[in-house]
This record gives sequence, structure tokens and C-alpha cells, in this order.
Amino acid sequence: MKIVSACLAGINCRYDGKSGGNKNIIEMVKKGEAIPVCPEQLGGLSTPKEKHEIKQGRVISETGVDRTEEFSRGAQEALKIAKSTGCKKAILKAMSPSCGCGRIYDGNFSGNLVEGDGFFARLLKQNKISVKTEEEL
Ligand code: SF4
Repeated sequence: MKIVSACLAGINCRYDGKSGGNKNIIEMVKKGEAIPVCPEQLGGLSTPKEKHEIKQGRVISETGVDRTEEFSRGAQEALKIAKSTGCKKAILKAMSPSCGCGRIYDGNFSGNLVEGDGFFARLLKQNKISVKTEEEL
């Protein structure tokens, strides 16, 4: 069983209220092989919402609101789902401040990428759950 980003599974939870569903992930969920979670919604954030990026370890919205607490809480709640269902692997949305793995935006809303993980991806790795992005499928 795998954890997958809910937006990849066709759930309209992305910041812009859309999903960006991925057909392989949708198929995995249909077959009962994957569990969709959205850490940002679990952290109490609304959909749609502003864009957020990580800067100096904090998650900041495009208008400068610090949402680090919500992103942290959401990652913790989503981790509980991964643990309680025995998931050892995750496939998460690339470049998201929660789900991104390996590369994320640089915090300036400029479209530039830097090395790093989103809050949820990092927490999963710290808990020995392997993470890859849908781009690596
Ligand atoms: Fe998708 Fe993850 Fe963002 Fe939720 S937090 S919309 S699952 S990328």
C-alpha cells in the first residue's frame, strides 16, 4: 500500500481548486493499492488558497502570511494516516511545499527551483517511508 498526494488522485484540493490528476495514480487508488491524502487540507488550510513556498525553513504565502504551523500540523496528521495503514512508500506531487521531493521552489515565487523537500515529504523520509514524485513513475 502506498500514500499518494490526493491531487494526483483527481481530488480538487490543489491551491487553485483543481487537481492535476495523474492517470497511473488514479488507477492505483481504484485498485485499492494507494491511499490519497492532502496534508495541507489536514492542516486546516482552505481550498482554493494562495500559493505558498518555503523560505528559510518557514512556509510563507505569496502575500507574506506565515503558515508554517498549518503545514507542520498537516504533515503530522498525514503521517498518522501513513503509519496507521502501514504504508512504506509514497508517491507525491513534485515541487509542492508539502509534497515536493528533492526539488522545491526557492521561496521567491519566481519559478526557480532549489534542492529540498516539502514538509510532508521530509517528515515521511524521517519516518523511513520512501518518497518519489509522480515524475519518477
Ligand atoms: Fe496536492 Fe500535496 Fe498540495 Fe495537497 S498538499 S494539494 S496533496 S500537492
